[in-house]
Amino acid sequence: MSARSRVDDDDEKVIAIMKPKQLQSELQDLRTFSNPKQNLEQYATTPLLATKLLQVASVEFNDIEEKSVIDLGVGTGVLAIGAKLMGAGHVLGIDVDADALEECKENLEMYDPELEVELCLMDVVELIRRYDNDEDEDEDEDEDEAVSVKRKDYVWPRADTVLTNPPFGTRRKGADVAFLAAAMKMAETAVYSFHKTSTREYIEKVAVKKLGAKSAKVVAEMKYGLKNQYGHHRKDEVEVFVDVWRIEPSSSKAKKDADDDEKDEMFEQNLRDLAANIEELQLSARQRKDKERNKNSRKNSDNRKKW
Ligand code: SAH
Repeated sequence: MSARSRVDDDDEKVIAIMKPKQLQSELQDLRTFSNPKQNLEQYATTPLLATKLLQVASVEFNDIEEKSVIDLGVGTGVLAIGAKLMGAGHVLGIDVDADALEECKENLEMYDPELEVELCLMDVVELIRRYDNDEDEDEDEDEDEAVSVKRKDYVWPRADTVLTNPPFGTRRKGADVAFLAAAMKMAETAVYSFHKTSTREYIEKVAVKKLGAKSAKVVAEMKYGLKNQYGHHRKDEVEVFVDVWRIEPSSSKAKKDADDDEKDEMFEQNLRDLAANIEELQLSARQRKDKERNKNSRKNSDNRKKW
């Protein structure tokens, strides 16, 4: 595959922007999850669906070309790669699954020159859960306090546009909302997200009322042919109706005055800080588990004493 670069007036390499039909056939050649993990709800976005989202985001809203983009739950990379092929600037792919990131890397390497997408291993759901619990935990036992990462210490990676085909929350409860919450913290301008049409009212309520979105609109409606890759559906393929949402985070977050260099620098710094935060999170999660275990074993021995 070729990234079909050309040389512009400033002698800088830029990737030619693709037309939808061409983009769709290009995305068709990408590999998808070779061993999809059910607990992570790994369903690859079909090339048709990915193309539709990218086309709307790019043509109707000018949210892709030369914009920084984060693909949240990047999987094997169809949205991140599509965005890059549509002329996005810096693209960052985030996923909790190292195997998926490996396969995404292989997809990037199929291009000549290799497509530049930065990849980052991160558990988005755990990060949001810790973030939301911080305030409650402040009043709890102080043992945790030394290691717990405080609300004010969180530094989220930021991009103009965040794209996500999130877990629908059927396996890990609340994963869909956690993804939306994280996406909205990361986006300067807009979040694009797929959700089942049957959850339309709920998503609007969550985005606007719970997460404080400035706006939340369905910008495309599609049919999603979900392959029976996990064997728990009776049919080989089930049709799911999905909406493509465009959600604008609250305007207070938009830092439009920062110049581009400053933004890049902040972005790099954010990533470094975030990596440090994640180490702390993993540590505090381990300590919390140990504490729970101790509590339980204490409870059990108390119970035994009563008997
Ligand atoms: N963006 C890809 C994959 C969508 S499937 C595509 O469009 O084809 C959802 C993705 O979210 C999977 O790759 C899964 O590994 C990832 N994911 C699930 N839970 C996650 C979590 N807690 N943190 C980060 N990524 C997660």
